[in-house]
Formats: sequence, C-alpha cells, structure tokens
Amino acid sequence: MKVLIFSARNFEKEYLKNSNNDKHKITFTLDALSSKTAIQAVGFDAVSIFSGDIACNNTLEKLKDFGVKYVALRSAGYDNVNIRAAAILGIKVANVPNYSPYAIAEYAAGLLLVLNRKLIEANNRVKHFNFSLDNLVGFDLNDKTIGVIGTGKIGSLMVKIMHGFGCHVIGYDITENSSLVDSYNLKYMPLETLCKTADIISIHVPLNTETHHLIDESLIEIMKPGVLIINTARGAVVETSHVIKGLKNKTIGGFAMDVYEKEHDIFFKDLSNTIPTDDMLITLNVMPNVLITGHQAFLTKEALTNIAETTIYNLDCWSEGLKTENELYK
Ligand code: NAD
Repeated sequence: MKVLIFSARNFEKEYLKNSNNDKHKITFTLDALSSKTAIQAVGFDAVSIFSGDIACNNTLEKLKDFGVKYVALRSAGYDNVNIRAAAILGIKVANVPNYSPYAIAEYAAGLLLVLNRKLIEANNRVKHFNFSLDNLVGFDLNDKTIGVIGTGKIGSLMVKIMHGFGCHVIGYDITENSSLVDSYNLKYMPLETLCKTADIISIHVPLNTETHHLIDESLIEIMKPGVLIINTARGAVVETSHVIKGLKNKTIGGFAMDVYEKEHDIFFKDLSNTIPTDDMLITLNVMPNVLITGHQAFLTKEALTNIAETTIYNLDCWSEGLKTENELYK
C-alpha cells in the first residue's frame, strides 16, 4: 500500500521504518493533515496521522475524492477525527489503543512531583549557583487524597502509582473498575464530591462531547484551596480560561499540563523565534506554579515501538483485505 505519514517527526521515523520493513511504500511529510494539506494525499491508499492532525468532515471528503481508503492514527485518542463522517464515506479508521499506558501514567506522576516540589525552579537556581531554598516548600504526597478522573488504562495505572506513594485514591468514571477498589482501596464517587475532597486531581478521560470542558468554573469553585491539577489527557477536557481564573484567585495551587486545548498549530513546532500570540498560553507560561510540556507524555522508546508496530499492523490488515480489531467503527 502507498501510505502518506502526516506530521512525521524525526523521533518516530526510524521506529516506523523498522516496523514497516519495506512492506508498504511509506512517504513522510512534516505537514499536519488539514483541509489545505489533504491534497498531498493524491495517489495514496492510506494516510497516517497524529493527534495534531485534523480529520474533519471536509478533510475526509477530500481524502475520499483523492482515493484514500484508510486512516491509521498513531495515537490512542481520536477526538481529532470525525468518525461518523469517515463511516459514511466508507473510510476505515484505526487507532493504537494500548501503546503504553505506563508512559502516560508515569509521566503524570512525574509532573506531579516536579510541580509540587518546584524542581524546575530549584534546578534553575542551582544553575546560577543560587542554593537558597526560600519558596521551594512542597508537601508530602503520603496521606494526601488524589482524585483520578477516568480510571481506564492510564488512570488505573495512576491509581496504582499514587497508592504506592501512600495516597488515598478516589475516582470518578462512568464505568467503575472493581479490581482497583479491591487492590488499591480506590473509592469511586460523583465528580463534585471528588472535586471537593481531593488535594490533587489527575485527568485521564478521553475528549468527547461529554468531557469537553468537564472541569469548569462550577467545579473549580468547590475544589479544596491549593489543589494541584495534572492534565495529561486532552486540553479541552478543562476550560482553560476558568483554570487561569482559579490560579489567579488561588483556588488552584498549581497546574501541570502536557496538553492544551489550543495546542494545534503550536505544539510539536519550534516557535522560539516567533512572537507568541496565544494570550492564554502566554498567561499560563509566566505563572510560577504552572508547568507546561508540549504533549510529550507518550514519548518513550516502548511507546514509540508499539505505536509503530500497531500502525503498520493496522495497514497490513487492510492491505490483506482484513479487518483490524483497532478499527474505530464496526
Ligand atoms: P481508556 O479508554 O482506557 O480510559 C478512559 C476512561 O475514561 C474509561 O474508563 C472511560 O470509562 C472513562 N470515561 C469516558 N468518558 C467518560 C465520561 N464522560 N465521564 C467519566 N469517565 C469517562 O483510555 P486511556 O488509554 O486511559 O487514555 C485516556 C486518554 O489519555 C486518551 O483518550 C487520550 O486523550 C489521552 N492520552 C494522552 C497522551 C499524551 O501523550 N498526553 C497519550 C495517550 C493518551
């Protein structure tokens, strides 16, 4: 099959080439898929996309016109693809549902430690031979209460990790996992109660119509003053402007985000020589109690290997006229 790999970054090309082993004729482009760049897919059977590519109805219609029959996501989340439109157009879409939940959960725990213990500021000081400890006070995680929103593959590992730190773990999910209750004494509760009770909140739900701006002003207002919020899920699960308000009025004591609701066109690019124009991001970036990384939680060797292998596996199935169990509509 001829496959155009959009948003192909240097860090993943070798993994994809190795997994492909010359089976498919793959072409890389750094460009993200959009209605403007879809034209590049003329003559290809399949495209592969990542979380910053937009496969909206309009783009999918163009892909269909250009002869593209398959979309292989290199991500678990698929909020950037109009699955309904793809189904109507007969374009098959598959994701990589389980590439490494460890990569994300470990990263979320890492963000929490760095945020709470102010490690970036501490390291910056030491680089300048400033060994003062003033304003670097954090808190013990032991005996604190962490609320895990979404206890699926990633969230359940976060439950396990935080239980290991001696935290009381509370959770919210539309589907409860009794093994987490048995193994880690996880207590499920309504979202409002979780928000009122937690010292730390870590978000692990997918972005969909129900979770869009799930964490908004009405919930932030009832949170414990000084709560730390960690978001490694999708930016738009939180209403960012309301989080900024919560940081300004000190309800939120710290915010770590690996994802941002307007990350499209910003993340994965070197914009260091441009004037920043996104006011919310500028505001967040200057706050000392905000830690931002550019959608990096998945970036481990194991995750990249699994992403590449599953992406090529999905393409293999389609080229042999078979279904893959990773297809997003049946
Ligand atoms: P998963 O499907 O295993 O778990 C998601 C959980 O959320 C499920 O238990 C589900 O029941 C729950 N859920 C869904 N809708 C809900 C709602 N409306 N209210 C409450 N709970 C709800 O997914 P996962 O593998 O754990 O991944 C979670 C998300 O993490 C992905 O969808 C993706 O957006 C994000 N992610 C981010 C990165 C990154 O690099 N930052 C990498 C991978 C995944």
